[in-house]
Amino acid sequence: MAGITPTSKIIIVGSGVFGISTALWLARSSGYSDVTVLDMQDTASAGYDPLSGVDSASADLNKIIRFSYGSEIEYQRLATEAGQMWDEWNAEIAATPLEELPERLRDGNRKLWWNAGWLRMSCTDELGAFELETLKNMEREGIRDLQFRSDDDADVKRAKEQGWAHKLDPCRRQERFGTHKAVLDSSAGFVYAYKSCAWAQYLAKKAGVKMILDPVRGKVLDITSKENRSVVNTADGLEHSADLVVVAGGGWTPSLVPEVQGLLETTAGSVATIQIPKDRLDLWDRFGEENQPVIAWGSRQGKEVYSIPRDENGIFKIGWRKTKWTNFENVGKRRISVPKTAHVTEQKETRIPTDALNGIKEYIELNFPELVPLGISSTRLCWYTDSIDNSFVVDFVPGRPGLAVCSGGSGHGFKFLPILGREVVKILEGRGSETAYGRLWQWRSSKENKRNGLEEGELGPRVLSRQTMASETDWKFAN
Ligand SMILES: Cc1cc2nc3c(=O)[nH]c(=O)nc-3n(C[C@H](O)[C@H](O)[C@H](O)COP(=O)(O)OP(=O)(O)OC[C@H]3O[C@@H](n4cnc5c(N)ncnc54)[C@H](O)[C@@H]3O)c2cc1C
Repeated sequence: MAGITPTSKIIIVGSGVFGISTALWLARSSGYSDVTVLDMQDTASAGYDPLSGVDSASADLNKIIRFSYGSEIEYQRLATEAGQMWDEWNAEIAATPLEELPERLRDGNRKLWWNAGWLRMSCTDELGAFELETLKNMEREGIRDLQFRSDDDADVKRAKEQGWAHKLDPCRRQERFGTHKAVLDSSAGFVYAYKSCAWAQYLAKKAGVKMILDPVRGKVLDITSKENRSVVNTADGLEHSADLVVVAGGGWTPSLVPEVQGLLETTAGSVATIQIPKDRLDLWDRFGEENQPVIAWGSRQGKEVYSIPRDENGIFKIGWRKTKWTNFENVGKRRISVPKTAHVTEQKETRIPTDALNGIKEYIELNFPELVPLGISSTRLCWYTDSIDNSFVVDFVPGRPGLAVCSGGSGHGFKFLPILGREVVKILEGRGSETAYGRLWQWRSSKENKRNGLEEGELGPRVLSRQTMASETDWKFAN
């Protein structure tokens, strides 16, 4: 389809990372004057805080930021550019008067991005093959210096010189197990996710983006077309017509755009938290970002657990990535996987499967036994939008003039919040085939590509209704 121009009327469905970054770049950097974001959740009032009742992949406490992407050079380049912008956002916020900041950024910590390091820790007495391959790639890319191998004397010496040595073995595995194999990536860290989205939304509003964030007025029921324009029907009975509708609905995208079936699928990651009490100064210090890196444990070794340093309220988040769950329901005449969350969906869910909870408990018992007496404090399913090849999908929908999709975060989209929209705008302007990202994120089919579990469908082993769910009584550890 012909691309948009700055006078086009554009509606974006979804105020998560993909929607808000697109809105920001349309209005702030490309001069688009008629951009409206619709969301069925009031992400503005709740400040994207998952503890205040927002359910989306973007509405989270914190997310991992890494710049190394193995052999995926386009993502590595974009992540590196995003990194510079995260630095700029930190500086911009620090320079903004407190009373001008969005509410969520007035309280507590105002820094979004924390360069706490990322420790990729083996669960055996060897580094995995993928880790060794990644190090070789980094050597080739000239970024090996940012990495410290825990078993390499020269690396340990450099880590000491550069103030990273105390993060090489935060679980004291060498002392406790007589072996510890890990690589610390000193370029990585984490962001406060809800504060980052609140900041991006504030910038978009300042640039003139209109927002309808409301469970009725902002809830999109379906998208049709009339006289070659897309028409969005909202739950208040109104029709909103636009030159272009961009669906950035995260895990709800397949419900709104049937054409993505076979290309995108909604799946859930399992997350738990442990509340560290403020009066436990020993733990408070150990799990703060000054001493604790982001950790990935047993990646591609069958464990797939990660943790992020405690936040300013003492919440230590642990995630289990080994299996991504599906939840099949009827949507119109289709049976597709849709989110089942704590607040937004009709059927509420705050539990995670027992397999996931056990994986998280094993990680804690082996690596942080001092947290065992505290027990798990909460669990949550957090919904991904997976694509067939883990690459994003940003393109016009074939056969649907005036409709585009911007989704497929596949568990790694958050870090691109400051920059993603720049590339999306080029695609929406019809210049996608000229750019590396336009080609990478274009509409594609699964015929010869990796299918990423999408081929399993409702008979597959990771369907949520077939799992045993963990209850609160399981949150305690056995000893
Ligand atoms: C468990 C987990 C861990 C992750 N960890 C990381 C990480 O460490 N680092 C990283 O870079 N990335 C990570 N990601 C990926 C990242 O979070 C996502 O790529 C990104 O947040 C997706 O944003 P989104 O805008 O596509 O979707 P969402 O954040 O889900 O937003 C979609 C929005 O659309 C709205 N919406 C949906 N349907 C409708 C409708 N009908 N009407 C109106 N509004 C609607 C929703 O209310 C929601 O606000 C992780 C993802 C998950 C699930």
